[in-house]
Formats: sequence, structure tokens, C-alpha cells
Amino acid sequence: MPELPEVEQVRRTLAPKLVGQTVSSVRIFYPERVFEVTPVEFRRGIVDSRVKKLSRRGKYLLMQTDRQYTALIGLGMTGRFIVEPSLEPLDYLIVAFGLKRNRMVKLYDMRRFSRISLAETGKVGQHPFLARLGHEFDDKRLTPSVLRKELQRFRRRNIKSVLLDQGVIAGLGNIYANEVLFAAKLNPEREAHTLNVNECSVLLGTTRRILRKAIEMGGTTVRNFRDADGRDGRYASELKVYLREGQPCPRCGKKNEIRRIVLGGRSTFYCPRCQK
Ligand SMILES: [Zn+2]
Repeated sequence: MPELPEVEQVRRTLAPKLVGQTVSSVRIFYPERVFEVTPVEFRRGIVDSRVKKLSRRGKYLLMQTDRQYTALIGLGMTGRFIVEPSLEPLDYLIVAFGLKRNRMVKLYDMRRFSRISLAETGKVGQHPFLARLGHEFDDKRLTPSVLRKELQRFRRRNIKSVLLDQGVIAGLGNIYANEVLFAAKLNPEREAHTLNVNECSVLLGTTRRILRKAIEMGGTTVRNFRDADGRDGRYASELKVYLREGQPCPRCGKKNEIRRIVLGGRSTFYCPRCQK
């Protein structure tokens, strides 16, 4: 958390407040959350430039300026943007971008797993945050046969861990990986390389459908996700298996059927009857 739909919702709610604005100051409160460049380099790269575009790649936000640099921002577990006057309290504040009229765009993060960095815009795809990322979920080049070929690379690894790896499809985290596998009727413990092209086609279709719907509903709030307008995501009501251990399966209806196991250190929820 936040996963692709939540980061996309942050992008959509933050962009109107940030794009077109000139950043007059950058204050970094946790220098250890700046990666690949020094905090001074980060600040110099952004100060006095105008924000041209706010985009997303996987779970990262990319803030492109009108000079040669783009800031990369990962929200970790609990990163949250708030636009407010500069006088608010500083607890959990990672970085603050000053705008005109004493307004600031601030990244708060209670658990402090957020990551920020800087790249030349023309080389942003090669930045270590992004270089290993797989396809965007809506990339038309990602066809069932391309997906199948990519899954072959992961000898013996289960499909759930491969989806979380970011190297095949970027942006899926634990909530949506569980939901996508349930919708695709695939057992999370299946070895990724055993999926046939029809199963890849179903998996791709469910991934696209679920992520689109979750984006439309502003993401999922199970604990503390808020967008840049302070609103909760509404997709939590659509979740079929995530955190539903011991409940009846919403598809086959069998009582107590949703199981929880741990795969790759992550809670995994599924119906052993429907998911093969
Ligand atoms: Zn079932």
C-alpha cells in the first residue's frame, strides 16, 4: 500500500494543485529518504523550476519540471500528500515543496518508507527506481503470449510472488494481486511458468478490469490511504478475498472457504475450491 490505483488517485488529485506552479523552495526533513543523489542535488534540480507534468510509472510518481530534471517519488507504505500553508506542524514530514502564496505541497509519511530521487528527464526510465519495472497494466504490447513468455523466466516461483515482483506487470501490490488471482481463478501457489496462454489471457483481462475499476473508485482504503484531497478510496467494498479469511467464498458460496496462507512473507487469501 499504496498500489497502482492509489498512486494514480494521488496523481489525479495532486496534479491540479501542482502542475504549472513554480517551486520556490524544497525542504527535506529526512535526508536518508533521498536516494541516488544528495539532498543538495535534489533541491538544486527542482528549485525555481516550473512543474510541467505529473505522471506515474508503476507505483512511482514522476514530477517533470520545465528544466532538465524529473523528481521521482515512491510513497512507501503510508506516504501521503497534503497541500496546506507552511505553518502546519512538521511531524512525519519527509519533504515540502514551496509554491506561491505561502502554499506548500508536503509529503508526510508516518512509517517513513517513502523514497525520493532525481533524474534527468531524458534518462528517467534508466533510473534504478524504474529500470527493472515491467509493463504498465494497460500497455497494448502486453499480450497473453508476451505475458506467458515473461512468466517462463521465473522458474519455480509462484504466480503471486511473480506478480508482486514488479518485473512483469508494474504496480500490483498485495491487495490487488490477491484480488486478480481470485478473479482469474488461479491458485496463488501455481508456479508462474505453468500458466498456459489461455490462463495468461484471463489473468491479463482480470488485471486490467480490476485496476481500471479500482482507479475509477479512487483506490482502496483499508487502513490509512488518503488522496491529495484527503479522501478515502472506495474500492474496499469491492474486495472479494483480501482480509476475508474464514468467510464464505463470494463465487462458489462454500462456507468458511477463504483461506489465508503466507507466500513470500505476504498474507495470501484465496478459495482453494475455485482457484486451480
Ligand atoms: Zn470459491
